[in-house]
Amino acid sequence: MSYVLSVMDQVKKRNPGEIEFHQAIEEVLLSLEPVIQKHPEFAKAGLLERFCEPDRTIMFRVSWVDDAGAVQVNRGFRVQFNSAIGPYKGGMRFHPSVYLGIVKFLGFEQTLKNSLTGLPIGGGKGGSDFDPKGKSDAEVMRFCQSLMSELYRHIGQDLDVPAGDIGVGAREIGYMFGQYKRLQNAYEAGVLTGKGLSYGGSLARTEATGFGLIYFVREMLAAHGHNYEGKTVVISGSGNVAIYACQKAQSYGAKVVAMSDSNGYIYDKNGINLYTVKRLKEVERKRISEYVKLHPEAEYHEGCSNIWSLKCDIALPCATQNDIDVPQAEMLIKNGVIAIGEGANMPTTNDAIKLFLEKGVLVAPAKAANAGGVATSALEMSQNSMRLSWSFEEVDRKLDGIMVNIFKAAQSAAKEYGAEGNYVDGANIAGFLKVANAMMAQGIV
Ligand code: NDP
Repeated sequence: MSYVLSVMDQVKKRNPGEIEFHQAIEEVLLSLEPVIQKHPEFAKAGLLERFCEPDRTIMFRVSWVDDAGAVQVNRGFRVQFNSAIGPYKGGMRFHPSVYLGIVKFLGFEQTLKNSLTGLPIGGGKGGSDFDPKGKSDAEVMRFCQSLMSELYRHIGQDLDVPAGDIGVGAREIGYMFGQYKRLQNAYEAGVLTGKGLSYGGSLARTEATGFGLIYFVREMLAAHGHNYEGKTVVISGSGNVAIYACQKAQSYGAKVVAMSDSNGYIYDKNGINLYTVKRLKEVERKRISEYVKLHPEAEYHEGCSNIWSLKCDIALPCATQNDIDVPQAEMLIKNGVIAIGEGANMPTTNDAIKLFLEKGVLVAPAKAANAGGVATSALEMSQNSMRLSWSFEEVDRKLDGIMVNIFKAAQSAAKEYGAEGNYVDGANIAGFLKVANAMMAQGIV
């Protein structure tokens, strides 16, 4: 058995039942075979075994009282995955599906993603099985305060810097920051990112992941003689990433015809009215189905995964993991899709990615294509350290430059390791090499 396969085997045995973590490990390790062949010293140093084992895993009880006076108990997580190149950095996810396997897969991906940004940040991730949907603001606040009452002792601006993810937006970050500040008795602005503008947040952080995705895909399309002008785009999700990907794609002349939430999708042949989606999702916190009440020419369909049966040139999965499996990939290919841009983390299964690549569909992998969010979080940390704020245009310009560089890094690593045009392997290799070299230099720790 090769070194890579034996490490994969060990990870599966050591982390039973954590299927998302196994999937993420497999996708990355298989693409590292040529790297390991070129660098036998990595195997000798047990590098992959160490790379696949988080530095630290924290799991804790979060007790809180709901509006009816009943006691609720959730579980909180923080996985500090790898700090070879900087403090742990990665979001918090609040969703009922959250368990250790999801947090570990996200922390592992985050390590490579953060490396790709070229900024000095390590990888971590956290969250809870708490569902903010249908909860009052007061309930969300009490939950966030209870969670932070434990988490605060494990994080810090030079140690571990959480941010948002699914179910964690500006409201949740605000409540967590308030509680951290109270417990720590110090104003450490850099301990969380995604903060409100009035207390240390960065302009363009809200837009960054969606905008960054569109910048990365722009570079990938250009490298293959395409652009956005007149292209039909389908986007899954209608959260933070989906909304700003839609906005930037529209600004480049693409027509976004569909978006979704976990209940179903809307199809608007005239092009999605983003103003309506923003109001429904960002202000009123309603379901996407409400869209058709305001735009009767549009259609609403129950079941979110059927969105991939729509004909499009560019598919942007921006909701959650494993959104596109082989049947959805087959439909997209049949309908002539040119490119997939992964806005969500691991939205495409490994088999579906394989199929896309075999059929010549361009794939912008999540860890590269959605790295704009964390990159801008790192810019937020820089502004906090310097105690100043950059303009929207300045942050956006830096973000664009970072995304161009990430694309170039993935492109040249793919070429160097014999996988030209395969940005999935390219991103894995480029992200890994930087962390691997740092780990080698730091000895067996
Ligand atoms: P949001 O909570 O803002 O939005 C998530 C969207 O996806 C919602 O429309 C939600 O629908 C839908 N969704 C969530 N879970 C499911 C599910 N199980 N099935 C179907 N649809 C689902 O999250 P974000 O936009 O921030 O995150 C989306 C993805 O992007 C995630 O994979 C996240 O890890 C990734 N990401 C986010 C970054 C960021 O900066 N925000 C940075 C990098 C990656 P509903 O409202 O019905 O639940």
